[in-house]
Amino acid sequence: MTICRPGKGHLMIQFDTVHKRFPNGTTAVHDLSLEMPEGGVTVLVGSSGCGKTTTLRMINRMVDPTSGTIRVGGKDVLERDAAELRRSIGYVIQQSGLFPHRTVLDNIATVPLLLGWGRRKARARAAELLETVGLAADAGKRYPHQLSGGQQQRVGVARALAADPPVLLMDEPFGAVDPVVRTQLQDELLRLQKELNKTIVFVTHDVDEAVRLGDQIAIFRTGGHLVQCASPAELLARPADDFVADFLGAERGLKLLSLENLADVPQGPAPEGGAWTLVLDEDRHPRSWRSTSGDTTFPVRPLRDGDSLLAALNESIASPTGLVARVDAQGALTGVTSRDDIHEHAARAHGTADVAI
Ligand code: ATP
Repeated sequence: MTICRPGKGHLMIQFDTVHKRFPNGTTAVHDLSLEMPEGGVTVLVGSSGCGKTTTLRMINRMVDPTSGTIRVGGKDVLERDAAELRRSIGYVIQQSGLFPHRTVLDNIATVPLLLGWGRRKARARAAELLETVGLAADAGKRYPHQLSGGQQQRVGVARALAADPPVLLMDEPFGAVDPVVRTQLQDELLRLQKELNKTIVFVTHDVDEAVRLGDQIAIFRTGGHLVQCASPAELLARPADDFVADFLGAERGLKLLSLENLADVPQGPAPEGGAWTLVLDEDRHPRSWRSTSGDTTFPVRPLRDGDSLLAALNESIASPTGLVARVDAQGALTGVTSRDDIHEHAARAHGTADVAI
């Protein structure tokens, strides 16, 4: 049994030896113990049918476990009224699940109205959320079919946030949109998360999406087995077994490319007598740094035009490589910047040299 214990902060969601067997005999979730800290993003990944959705749906009692305990905010979900619990937890699914015959504004106002808010207050809240998720005010009057797939997903997120729930469940919310819009939606979610500090449980098939969004990633194997749950850096550095290593690597079609072989890329500082190799995929998208001894790996901190240098600086501090990969709008590598370079830029951008490292 793999137990995931994040070790710091309050726990919002706890699975304790949870088992789910459907009446047809399928075991969807096997002996799951998993803890999700408050204000963190936990991503559930794994191949099709490995129990991700079932795990997610047990949190808001759309599915009940066969055995074991699930607590949300310290309370056993089975002791709560299922309908009330569902209204108190935001839920976003792949095809947005919007009501086709209601306007966008009315869609977003649905849960507040169910909770007994007055119509005026619910609609005012819906209008405010349109802006929060980056939609123009006039989108509120439209019907779902008059929006693009990406815009519909934004409405789905707004609707899930309407009653300001502490927990947001997201089941492949960006799975049906094209890659460019998908990246934008991921960026928006990260921005929103910083602002709203929700506890998010996010299901995806996509390892890159998982690494990008997850504070912790839970990797499942067929039969509903949790194999490993850890931060992206920890997973890349110390995969629990070959399954995890293959899952992280094979799904991304990784190719090793040494920094020294990239004539146009400045060499970063060599850490503690070694050097870091940048792992790129086939499209020259940087994926991770690997120490030349091969025993340590860290995720890449990509810096896109327009990204905050300070944010990149902060992130690079967390990475012992101290290196940031500069990428273009398509995510392909354009260069590498060392922590010191960024420090210099950041200090200049803010007119001070007092940026702490
Ligand atoms: P996907 O990535 O394809 O959405 P998943 O990892 O989310 O898959 P689940 O949807 O949780 O997987 O399903 C786990 C297993 O439980 C699968 O074998 C599935 O067929 C089975 N299952 C899910 N719901 C039911 C149900 N209501 N009755 C019987 N079996 C079910």
